[in-house]
Amino acid sequence: MRPLLRLSSEEARAIDTVVFDLDDTLLDHGRLTEVAYSALFRLREAGLALVASTGRPAGWAQLFARQWPLTAALAENGAVAWARGDDGRYRLDDPLPLAERARRRAALREIAAQLLERFPALGLADDNDARHTDMALDIGEHRRAAPEDVARARALATSLGARTFASSVHMHLTFEGYDKATGFARWARAARGDDPTRALKRAAFLGDSGNDAPAFAAFGLTFGVSNVASHVGKLTVPPRYVASRPMGAGFAEIADALVARRG
Ligand SMILES: [Mg+2]
Repeated sequence: MRPLLRLSSEEARAIDTVVFDLDDTLLDHGRLTEVAYSALFRLREAGLALVASTGRPAGWAQLFARQWPLTAALAENGAVAWARGDDGRYRLDDPLPLAERARRRAALREIAAQLLERFPALGLADDNDARHTDMALDIGEHRRAAPEDVARARALATSLGARTFASSVHMHLTFEGYDKATGFARWARAARGDDPTRALKRAAFLGDSGNDAPAFAAFGLTFGVSNVASHVGKLTVPPRYVASRPMGAGFAEIADALVARRG
């Protein structure tokens, strides 16, 4: 990982979109700071489209898409997106019908129940009611689950047929094939008519932890806030650049560097 000072004008000018994680990247332990929020406006004023990409629920993403200066908000690790249509209405972009969603969530609820029985250090996350495609277990938000328990719980979930993601706060159970990179590419094609490979190449990604790993490996320009250092062992590809500060302050530092290099 290189310091932000090494970022070139060519790299900063080659992107048209900034995709960013929320927990412990834009947000400080779940809180949106003034410095991080104002950085969003500076990025937008520099001509960049902004896309939030979070493991948090679709119900939360609707609010972000409506209230923040965003082009879209991808939720549940890229499975679905909220964005404003040409007619001015906000819609959830979900490739599956509602009945299939209900069936899948019931099956995930059963897998979650089995995991909680076996691993009492984990608990149900408190944001599951707003979720559309996945179930989330708390491993680091209000609890501190041991990494060995998380690893064993993920292995059991896999053996029961679910895919898993782990962020700094949650372990997710899902049947969806998307991640933060493929979910963005799918959205860019559906909403903007972009070629998926080109959309990834022309976008920067900012993140901090394990569920950002597919994005660090796929986006054209990648950044970590400084707290990414404690997750680097779980990333197959680390971010290209790293901020000197953590979470929201690091997000603002990266935004400032991008805006300054774009000139
Ligand atoms: Mg995060």
